[in-house]
Amino acid sequence: MFEYEKEFIAYYVKKHYGDPFSVLVAVILSQNTTEKNAFDAWFSLEKGLGKVTPEKVLEAGVEKIEKLIRKAGLQKQKARAIYEAAKRWEVLKEAIAKGDSKPLLSIKGIGKKTVDVVMMSFGHEAFPVDTHVKRVATRLGWASGSYEKVSEKLKEMFRGKEMEAHMLLILHGRRTCKAKKPECWRCPLKDICPYAGGLGTTTALTGPSAPGK
Ligand code: SF4
Repeated sequence: MFEYEKEFIAYYVKKHYGDPFSVLVAVILSQNTTEKNAFDAWFSLEKGLGKVTPEKVLEAGVEKIEKLIRKAGLQKQKARAIYEAAKRWEVLKEAIAKGDSKPLLSIKGIGKKTVDVVMMSFGHEAFPVDTHVKRVATRLGWASGSYEKVSEKLKEMFRGKEMEAHMLLILHGRRTCKAKKPECWRCPLKDICPYAGGLGTTTALTGPSAPGK
Protein backbone atom coordinates (compact mmCIF):
# COMPACT_ATOMS: atom_id res chain seq x y z
CA MET A 1 0.00 0.00 0.00
CA PHE A 2 1.27 3.46 -0.87
CA GLU A 3 1.94 5.99 1.85
CA TYR A 4 -0.08 8.73 0.25
CA GLU A 5 0.78 11.23 2.95
CA LYS A 6 4.43 11.07 1.90
CA GLU A 7 3.56 11.53 -1.75
CA PHE A 8 0.89 14.24 -1.71
CA ILE A 9 1.02 17.47 0.29
CA ALA A 10 -2.76 17.96 0.11
CA TYR A 11 -3.37 14.49 1.51
CA TYR A 12 -0.79 15.02 4.25
CA VAL A 13 -2.26 18.35 5.29
CA LYS A 14 -5.83 17.06 5.21
CA LYS A 15 -4.84 14.11 7.38
CA HIS A 16 -2.78 16.05 9.93
CA TYR A 17 -4.57 19.40 10.07
CA GLY A 18 -7.98 18.66 8.60
CA ASP A 19 -9.21 22.21 8.02
CA PRO A 20 -10.11 23.51 4.55
CA PHE A 21 -7.92 26.62 4.72
CA SER A 22 -4.77 24.55 5.30
CA VAL A 23 -5.73 22.20 2.48
CA LEU A 24 -6.38 25.09 0.09
CA VAL A 25 -2.98 26.61 0.95
CA ALA A 26 -1.27 23.24 0.44
CA VAL A 27 -2.86 22.79 -2.97
CA ILE A 28 -1.87 26.32 -4.03
CA LEU A 29 1.71 25.57 -2.96
CA SER A 30 1.74 22.39 -5.05
CA GLN A 31 0.81 24.13 -8.30
CA ASN A 32 3.47 23.74 -11.01
CA THR A 33 6.15 22.30 -8.77
CA THR A 34 7.31 19.02 -7.33
CA GLU A 35 5.64 17.55 -4.29
CA LYS A 36 8.97 17.87 -2.42
CA ASN A 37 9.10 21.63 -3.02
CA ALA A 38 5.49 21.94 -1.91
CA PHE A 39 6.26 20.04 1.31
CA ASP A 40 9.31 22.26 1.97
CA ALA A 41 7.27 25.41 1.38
CA TRP A 42 4.48 24.17 3.64
CA PHE A 43 6.84 23.49 6.55
CA SER A 44 8.59 26.82 6.05
CA LEU A 45 5.23 28.62 6.05
CA GLU A 46 4.07 26.77 9.14
CA LYS A 47 7.30 27.53 10.96
CA GLY A 48 7.20 31.19 9.97
CA LEU A 49 3.55 31.73 10.94
CA GLY A 50 3.32 29.38 13.90
CA LYS A 51 0.08 28.03 12.43
CA VAL A 52 -1.41 28.28 8.95
CA THR A 53 -4.68 30.13 9.51
CA PRO A 54 -6.38 33.02 7.66
CA GLU A 55 -5.69 35.30 10.64
CA LYS A 56 -1.97 34.49 10.69
CA VAL A 57 -1.72 34.96 6.92
CA LEU A 58 -3.39 38.40 7.11
CA GLU A 59 -1.20 39.38 10.04
CA ALA A 60 1.97 38.37 8.17
CA GLY A 61 1.12 40.13 4.89
CA VAL A 62 1.87 39.15 1.29
CA GLU A 63 5.59 39.88 1.31
CA LYS A 64 6.35 37.71 4.30
CA ILE A 65 4.25 34.88 2.85
CA GLU A 66 6.15 35.23 -0.40
CA LYS A 67 9.49 34.77 1.37
CA LEU A 68 8.27 31.83 3.41
CA ILE A 69 6.95 29.89 0.40
CA ARG A 70 9.83 30.67 -1.98
CA LYS A 71 10.69 26.96 -2.27
CA ALA A 72 7.39 26.32 -4.05
CA GLY A 73 8.24 28.71 -6.92
CA LEU A 74 5.81 31.26 -8.43
CA GLN A 75 5.85 32.69 -4.92
CA LYS A 76 4.44 36.10 -5.86
CA GLN A 77 1.39 34.64 -7.54
CA LYS A 78 0.90 31.98 -4.86
CA ALA A 79 1.34 34.41 -1.96
CA ARG A 80 -1.25 36.74 -3.48
CA ALA A 81 -3.71 33.88 -3.94
CA ILE A 82 -3.19 32.70 -0.34
CA TYR A 83 -3.59 36.24 1.00
CA GLU A 84 -6.72 36.86 -1.06
CA ALA A 85 -8.21 33.56 0.15
CA ALA A 86 -7.48 34.56 3.75
CA LYS A 87 -9.24 37.91 3.20
CA ARG A 88 -12.35 36.26 1.82
CA TRP A 89 -12.19 33.20 4.03
CA GLU A 90 -15.67 33.42 5.58
CA VAL A 91 -17.32 33.28 2.15
CA LEU A 92 -14.92 30.64 0.83
CA LYS A 93 -15.36 28.40 3.85
CA GLU A 94 -19.11 28.29 3.30
CA ALA A 95 -18.66 27.70 -0.42
CA ILE A 96 -16.35 24.73 0.25
CA ALA A 97 -18.84 23.29 2.73
CA LYS A 98 -21.56 23.54 0.07
CA GLY A 99 -19.38 22.32 -2.79
CA ASP A 100 -19.75 25.64 -4.64
CA SER A 101 -16.64 26.25 -6.79
CA LYS A 102 -17.44 29.76 -8.03
CA PRO A 103 -16.13 31.91 -5.15
CA LEU A 104 -12.81 30.04 -5.16
CA LEU A 105 -12.49 30.33 -8.94
CA SER A 106 -12.90 34.09 -8.71
CA ILE A 107 -9.48 34.37 -7.02
CA LYS A 108 -6.55 34.96 -9.34
CA GLY A 109 -4.15 32.02 -9.09
CA ILE A 110 -6.82 29.50 -8.12
CA GLY A 111 -7.93 27.37 -11.05
CA LYS A 112 -10.22 24.46 -11.70
CA LYS A 113 -7.70 21.79 -10.70
CA THR A 114 -6.92 23.46 -7.37
CA VAL A 115 -10.62 23.81 -6.60
CA ASP A 116 -11.30 20.20 -7.57
CA VAL A 117 -8.58 18.91 -5.24
CA VAL A 118 -10.05 20.93 -2.37
CA MET A 119 -13.60 19.81 -3.15
CA MET A 120 -12.56 16.17 -3.48
CA SER A 121 -10.66 16.38 -0.18
CA PHE A 122 -13.86 17.44 1.56
CA GLY A 123 -16.08 14.75 0.13
CA HIS A 124 -17.59 16.56 -2.87
CA GLU A 125 -17.82 14.88 -6.23
CA ALA A 126 -14.79 16.03 -8.22
CA PHE A 127 -11.95 14.49 -10.21
CA PRO A 128 -8.95 16.79 -10.58
CA VAL A 129 -7.02 16.30 -13.81
CA ASP A 130 -3.33 17.10 -13.84
CA THR A 131 -0.83 16.34 -16.57
CA HIS A 132 -0.22 12.77 -15.29
CA VAL A 133 -3.89 11.94 -14.93
CA LYS A 134 -4.63 13.23 -18.42
CA ARG A 135 -1.73 11.37 -20.02
CA VAL A 136 -2.45 8.03 -18.34
CA ALA A 137 -6.21 8.23 -18.99
CA THR A 138 -5.59 9.12 -22.65
CA ARG A 139 -3.07 6.33 -23.24
CA LEU A 140 -5.37 3.81 -21.62
CA GLY A 141 -8.18 4.99 -23.89
CA TRP A 142 -10.36 5.94 -20.93
CA ALA A 143 -10.84 9.60 -21.77
CA SER A 144 -9.38 12.44 -23.80
CA GLY A 145 -10.00 16.05 -24.71
CA SER A 146 -10.71 19.00 -22.44
CA TYR A 147 -10.22 19.13 -18.68
CA GLU A 148 -13.98 18.87 -18.18
CA LYS A 149 -14.38 15.87 -20.49
CA VAL A 150 -11.59 13.88 -18.83
CA SER A 151 -12.75 14.85 -15.35
CA GLU A 152 -16.37 13.86 -16.04
CA LYS A 153 -15.39 10.50 -17.51
CA LEU A 154 -13.08 9.63 -14.60
CA LYS A 155 -15.72 10.73 -12.09
CA GLU A 156 -18.12 8.33 -13.74
CA MET A 157 -15.59 5.48 -13.75
CA PHE A 158 -14.42 5.91 -10.14
CA ARG A 159 -17.49 7.25 -8.38
CA GLY A 160 -17.02 7.03 -4.60
CA LYS A 161 -13.30 6.28 -4.96
CA GLU A 162 -12.21 9.46 -6.71
CA MET A 163 -9.50 10.39 -4.21
CA GLU A 164 -7.68 7.06 -4.35
CA ALA A 165 -8.06 6.73 -8.14
CA HIS A 166 -6.73 10.28 -8.58
CA MET A 167 -3.62 9.60 -6.48
CA LEU A 168 -2.97 6.20 -8.08
CA LEU A 169 -3.15 7.66 -11.59
CA ILE A 170 -0.68 10.38 -10.62
CA LEU A 171 1.73 7.89 -9.05
CA HIS A 172 1.43 5.65 -12.11
CA GLY A 173 2.21 8.63 -14.35
CA ARG A 174 5.18 9.68 -12.23
CA ARG A 175 6.72 6.24 -11.87
CA THR A 176 5.74 4.09 -14.85
CA CYS A 177 3.63 5.79 -17.50
CA LYS A 178 6.16 8.60 -17.90
CA ALA A 179 5.63 11.28 -20.52
CA LYS A 180 8.67 10.58 -22.72
CA LYS A 181 9.46 6.95 -21.99
CA PRO A 182 6.56 4.97 -20.57
CA GLU A 183 7.82 1.73 -19.03
CA CYS A 184 5.12 -0.47 -20.51
CA TRP A 185 7.25 -3.60 -20.07
CA ARG A 186 6.67 -3.46 -16.32
CA CYS A 187 3.20 -1.95 -16.33
CA PRO A 188 0.44 -4.09 -14.79
CA LEU A 189 -2.00 -2.53 -17.25
CA LYS A 190 -0.11 -3.37 -20.44
CA ASP A 191 -2.47 -6.14 -21.51
CA ILE A 192 -5.42 -3.81 -21.59
CA CYS A 193 -3.63 -0.68 -22.77
CA PRO A 194 -4.19 0.32 -26.41
CA TYR A 195 -1.09 2.56 -26.31
CA ALA A 196 1.13 -0.40 -25.38
CA GLY A 197 -0.60 -2.53 -28.00
CA GLY A 198 0.41 -0.01 -30.63
CA LEU A 199 4.07 -0.05 -29.62
CA GLY A 200 4.95 -3.54 -30.89
CA THR A 201 8.26 -4.71 -29.46
CA THR A 202 9.92 -1.42 -28.71
CA THR A 203 11.91 -0.57 -25.57
CA ALA A 204 8.71 0.54 -23.88
CA LEU A 205 7.50 -3.05 -23.99
CA THR A 206 10.71 -5.05 -23.75
CA GLY A 207 12.48 -3.06 -21.03
CA PRO A 208 16.02 -1.71 -20.74
CA SER A 209 17.72 -5.07 -20.13
CA ALA A 210 16.14 -6.92 -23.03
CA PRO A 211 18.63 -8.82 -25.20
CA GLY A 212 19.53 -7.23 -28.51
CA LYS A 213 19.05 -3.68 -27.25
S1 SF4 B 1 1.05 0.07 -20.72
FE1 SF4 B 1 2.42 1.81 -21.04
S2 SF4 B 1 1.18 3.44 -21.90
FE2 SF4 B 1 -0.22 1.90 -21.03
S3 SF4 B 1 -0.63 2.63 -18.96
FE3 SF4 B 1 1.07 1.21 -18.83
S4 SF4 B 1 2.93 2.49 -18.97
FE4 SF4 B 1 1.17 3.72 -19.69
